[in-house]
Amino acid sequence: MTVADPIRPVTPAQALTELLAGNSRFARGRPAHLNQGAGHRARSADGQRPFAAILGCSDSRVAAEIVFDRGLGDLFVVRTAGHMLGAEVLASIEFAVLGLDVPLVVVLDHDRCGAVAAAIAAHDSGRAPTGHLRVVVERLSPEILRAQAEGITDPDAITRLHIASTAHRLLDDAPGLRGRVDAGRCAVVGLGYALAEGRVDRVVAHGPVTHGMSAP
Ligand SMILES: [Zn+2]
Repeated sequence: MTVADPIRPVTPAQALTELLAGNSRFARGRPAHLNQGAGHRARSADGQRPFAAILGCSDSRVAAEIVFDRGLGDLFVVRTAGHMLGAEVLASIEFAVLGLDVPLVVVLDHDRCGAVAAAIAAHDSGRAPTGHLRVVVERLSPEILRAQAEGITDPDAITRLHIASTAHRLLDDAPGLRGRVDAGRCAVVGLGYALAEGRVDRVVAHGPVTHGMSAP
């Protein structure tokens, strides 16, 4: 099924509401496939106006446009294993926020994340992986050490710590994004995705997005 182009959300709360509505459709097995038709594809060729930027895990089961039931031109998506944050990622998010005026940035990870599991295994064994995979362990070390200090052993709980700290880091490391959030023009939200159920839930939220969110 395809439908006519929906109205683009403008505020952070509207954007989050649209994302959560799309995820609800997807989780219930009733996707609307918004903005995926040939007509929309042709109309969108002249320019993009995404309403959310997503920093998500590269896991092949967490494709942002699918799990939020959106289409072409809706989401500005950056995906790295374990949603690792580096200079290129920050540049991409800054472009989405400052260049494309997206009102919402989402940090998205999921249960049973392989990147988090690999980092925990490296810590437990004392052996870092070879090659560039070492970066994954290094970036996750603060969350793993914090979890150990707090007696947290559940990998999914560590993933949620990682989501929350990534949202904080985005605000700390991207002053332009911080300015938009402080001005009420953008929000940063961390969401956790359940692979089997297909649903997201809130981990953390910064900015004017209380609407449409249940308590964590
Ligand atoms: Zn993952």
